[in-house]
Amino acid sequence: MSLIVQKYGGTSVGTPERIRAVARRVARYKSLGHQIVVVVSAMSGETNRLIGLAREIMMEPNPRELDVIVSTGEQVTIGMTTLALIELGIKAKSYTGSQVKILTDDAHTKARILKIDHHNIQEDLDQGYVVVVAGFQGEDEQGNITTLGRGGSDTTGVALAAALKADECQIYTDVDGIYTTDPRVVPEAKKLDSITFEEMLEMASLGSKVLQIRAVEFAGKYKVKLRVLSSFEEEGDGTLITFEEKNKMEDPIISGIAFNRDEAKVSILGVPDKPGIAYQILGPIADANIDVDMIIQNVGAVGTTDFTFTVHRIDLNKALGILNEKVKGHVNAREVNGNDKIAKVSIVGVGMRSHVGVASQMFRTLSEEGINIDMISTSEIKISVLIDEKYLELAVRALHKAFGLDA
Ligand code: ADP
Ligand code: ASP
Ligand code: MG
Repeated sequence: MSLIVQKYGGTSVGTPERIRAVARRVARYKSLGHQIVVVVSAMSGETNRLIGLAREIMMEPNPRELDVIVSTGEQVTIGMTTLALIELGIKAKSYTGSQVKILTDDAHTKARILKIDHHNIQEDLDQGYVVVVAGFQGEDEQGNITTLGRGGSDTTGVALAAALKADECQIYTDVDGIYTTDPRVVPEAKKLDSITFEEMLEMASLGSKVLQIRAVEFAGKYKVKLRVLSSFEEEGDGTLITFEEKNKMEDPIISGIAFNRDEAKVSILGVPDKPGIAYQILGPIADANIDVDMIIQNVGAVGTTDFTFTVHRIDLNKALGILNEKVKGHVNAREVNGNDKIAKVSIVGVGMRSHVGVASQMFRTLSEEGINIDMISTSEIKISVLIDEKYLELAVRALHKAFGLDA
């Protein structure tokens, strides 16, 4: 007998019929003698609908109240899924995040899980219940409802698996595993049987939304056996996130390509080149809680420098406001500008450690397609470039081919 946490995403519980299919799968695992905890997302499109409703009242909704509103999506699906299980003659019981209790910090709309009280769940499991838990939500020390950020049900699933010391956490979604890149953008993308935890962490942080990054972090920290599979197929082992590196000789150089359109670029031009400039520019940005990703500093005209960095698109206006009001005059800069028509493309692979020339192959491939590179950043197992948004798909396809991932 194993304890398995199964998380089902929005499409997998998108209609009552899909919910019945989830219940049938759970019933099958139960009949094999396993203990099952099910974590569900809201029905697909529902979280967006709820955010839209809130915005009809207030364009920038109060975060505490926004969490009260958006957390209802998952409350519907836990009830529906539990009903579908009861209808099949299975003992089942639903829990909201507060009922569990999933304790988080108080960072509304992007809260972090601090602790999970799993004793009630464990007791129910021991009495033969299937327990169905709402993803994406928790409560803070004061009992306020919180949510974990978009895609946060993955994190609920993995965190519960860690707390319950589950044998496996299965993430059921609308694709049958982790692919070399998003199969909806590159039809030639190939499913991977396994991917290292380290690579998955990079892929998720660089924009592959198939797993929320915090879910991957949790899995790494608590050594949760994590697998991504399709809820639409009966067979298949999906993709396992592994902790051991494969035999180095057999490693492909690149395991996957990630991309995102979530960033914007901010430049402050013609800054007198003096010590302390980076701090004077980025200090006020950090004080405003804006995360900065890529940074580049160029030598400009004599004695001046141009400073460019990227932020999340939702922070673009805030960042421009700070630079114009607090920084530009102070550092005596010539101009401040912003651009959100950009995209970041990254190649990821542990094989990069043992190969040279990967970056130059990436740059050659992009140049052959006539794609200009705006910014570059690298780490031991990834290279990211910032390009014009309109070339994103072309770039991903060309790189996918150039690094032999089509084969
Ligand atoms: P869910 O609602 O089940 O959580 P998501 O939409 O969050 O599903 O994640 C699944 C989607 O992730 C897929 O439909 C796919 O378009 C996208 N995706 C992005 N990158 C990848 C990748 N490398 N492998 C598989 N899917 C990917
Ligand atoms: N329903 C939430 C969202 O759409 C959480 C999730 O699906 O994981 O982001
Ligand atoms: Mg998701």
